[in-house]
Amino acid sequence: MSENMTTTTTAPTENLRERALKLDAADPLAGRRALFALDDGVYLDGNSLGALPVHVPARVQDVLTRQWGELRIRSWDESGWWTAPERIGDRIAPLVGAAAGQIVVGDSTSVNVFKAVVAAVRIAGEGRDEILVDATTFPTDGYIASAAARLTGHRIVPVAPADVLAALGPRTAAVLLNHVDYRSGRLHDLPGLTAAVHAAGAVAVWDLCHSAGALPVGLDEHGVDLAVGCTYKYLNGGPGSPAYLYVAERHQAVFDSPLPGWNSHADPFGMTAGYAPADGSVRGRVGTPDIVSMLTLEAALDVWDGVSVDAVRAKSLALTDFFLECVEAYVPAGRVVSVTPAAHAERGSQVALRCAEAEPVMRRLIERGVVGDLRRPDVLRFGFTPLYVGFADAERAARILADVLAEVPAGNTVG
Ligand SMILES: *Cc1c(COP(=O)(O)O)cnc(C)c1O
Repeated sequence: MSENMTTTTTAPTENLRERALKLDAADPLAGRRALFALDDGVYLDGNSLGALPVHVPARVQDVLTRQWGELRIRSWDESGWWTAPERIGDRIAPLVGAAAGQIVVGDSTSVNVFKAVVAAVRIAGEGRDEILVDATTFPTDGYIASAAARLTGHRIVPVAPADVLAALGPRTAAVLLNHVDYRSGRLHDLPGLTAAVHAAGAVAVWDLCHSAGALPVGLDEHGVDLAVGCTYKYLNGGPGSPAYLYVAERHQAVFDSPLPGWNSHADPFGMTAGYAPADGSVRGRVGTPDIVSMLTLEAALDVWDGVSVDAVRAKSLALTDFFLECVEAYVPAGRVVSVTPAAHAERGSQVALRCAEAEPVMRRLIERGVVGDLRRPDVLRFGFTPLYVGFADAERAARILADVLAEVPAGNTVG
């Protein structure tokens, strides 16, 4: 009570600043920030390109100068290059709730969507001719799913995630969904939707690009069939770092890749003319892995050692709650509207604010060191990466947003 009395006599800015400092002081993940190369700004774009962990350049230097420069071809064995895709897959596995042996790293998310969708309709078998695809998806998933549908003789059914249940039926072969919507930050019900897809006799493919590294996924626990995700967002693997493919153990023997390159062969160095797929996650490989990028990712994953994904989730929700509270306190009513769900069960790790003047506002925010991004035409997107963003950052970003909005009059969509 007395605390309330004192706080009501201070300006709201002071209250929120003080609270931010207390929250940062009590944050069990606060120490992780020092592991990253960051400046004095507020980096809220780690959901697009994660920050560089400071130890990574020296490790990459070793890959180039010693592993490649000195060991040369011996590194395929001696430096573990050949087995890197499965080994690094096993490091990502605990972050998405998968037991070892089900994730392989390589190629881009787009390519893995192709492998997963084609493999999914092949698992579903004859007599089912529809592929349900999240109509609001990141465009590449939709483009690739359409091409996969044309190749396999299926029909694409675009469907809003809320309408998936109604669209499922005996014709459904596979369903491609995003765990978190890249634009709004909405978290979809992976356990419930996966169960519904299974009840309809179809195969569930999840895209984890905006959830892996930000919140628990529970792939094994919820019986997901296939999943893909990128590693350069919340997993900080670096620009263009390779993506990953999860194939549940129960499907591995029938996983029929549409891109059966020699790296997925049971005996790749046998160089035989006939194709015989390898067992396990290796079956998801295609060609020679991009070793430099892959080992950059492997080094970057060290920042997760000893981190509980539940703690990451708790901080992520506290951060996005606090940012929304600061925005509410500082920004004049009506200038921005949150399109990120208020309910925790429906929220990823970003806040999306609809703002008519989004373009000039984001430009000015970036000039002042608050780096978010823009989803045209009118969405300001702020990603909260719990390993290196703190509560003082959230408060500062909201305060600077209010300052910028004061400079950019309502209705000024270009200046
Ligand atoms: C980031 C993202 C991608 C990126 O695909 P790339 O092939 O790595 O360029 C794909 N899908 C979703 C949902 C994403 O968020």
